[in-house]
Amino acid sequence: MAPIEAVEGAKPLLRVLLANPRGFCAGVERAIETVERALATHGAPVYVRHEIVHNARVCDELRAKGAIFVEDLSEVPESSVVIFSAHGVPRRVEEEAEAAGHAVIDATCPLVARVHLGARRYVAEGRQVILIGHREHVEVQGTLGQVDADMIVVGSVDEVEALDLPPSTPVAYVTQTTLSVGDTQGIIEAIRARFPDTMGPETRDICYATQNRQQAVREIAGEVDLFLIIGARNSSNSNRLVEIATAEGVAAHLVPDAGSFEPAWLEGVHAVGISAGASAPESIVDDVLKRLAEHRNLALEQREGMRENITFKLPREVDGRVTRRRLAG
Ligand code: SF4
Repeated sequence: MAPIEAVEGAKPLLRVLLANPRGFCAGVERAIETVERALATHGAPVYVRHEIVHNARVCDELRAKGAIFVEDLSEVPESSVVIFSAHGVPRRVEEEAEAAGHAVIDATCPLVARVHLGARRYVAEGRQVILIGHREHVEVQGTLGQVDADMIVVGSVDEVEALDLPPSTPVAYVTQTTLSVGDTQGIIEAIRARFPDTMGPETRDICYATQNRQQAVREIAGEVDLFLIIGARNSSNSNRLVEIATAEGVAAHLVPDAGSFEPAWLEGVHAVGISAGASAPESIVDDVLKRLAEHRNLALEQREGMRENITFKLPREVDGRVTRRRLAG
């Protein structure tokens, strides 16, 4: 693909391959718009349990408009407007909110809610549900708390091997939405090998946005000497993108903001790939490109990737359809 922009000057040239799709997914769009509409409808403050999405800039912008982020509903005055983040919440949080008389707006991504439903269905069928994911992640905590049964969390093949269950146990698996496709496949195979009576979703619960961003990184990795992934340190899908680039043999760094970029990374580098996690705004990609341009003349190439045309209906409390104005790529 021909460069779309080249900057003349004395600095050495740097090819910059921009992965597509990158950045905001439909669930993140929906969650941000939910907070904005709640503020417009109810006025400030509205309280958001947990970061609405895992990105400091997004949260700072909403904070400036009147959103207050809390980790625990005990921090929220009675009868407030409370929004649940895109990652979902355990049932006990829903019950706490109801008991405190809060007006709740649930911005749980519909793809996360679908995992909750799937897990409940498997429990109703009498199966031991195995949740593949990272135990401490807020989405996993929410999923565990949405099902009235003890689920087992596994994050690796070794953890599957160590499970203390008879091989005849009817099991089912569900997965966190933001895992590595390849790692998860290996874990699913290990579960199926240990437990012949295993059920799971036809396609993994890993969401379309996670899969598309991972594929886009893989496609570029062979052409670059360095990969920069724009995303927050606590963003699961962004961290997976770093791992995927690394697994493809490319040096890769997570870049939460332009200030995190280190010029030394460019030593000996002729081509850099850039992507962004599903919660990272395009404005941070722009900031990082400006930092790169301080050191090199940039030849930017937008890579064509899977086109995404998914939108989610907003929570009924704020009504309407999600706009596409923030979608990247
Ligand atoms: Fe939903 Fe996937 Fe976006 Fe998470 S990454 S908010 S599951 S679309």
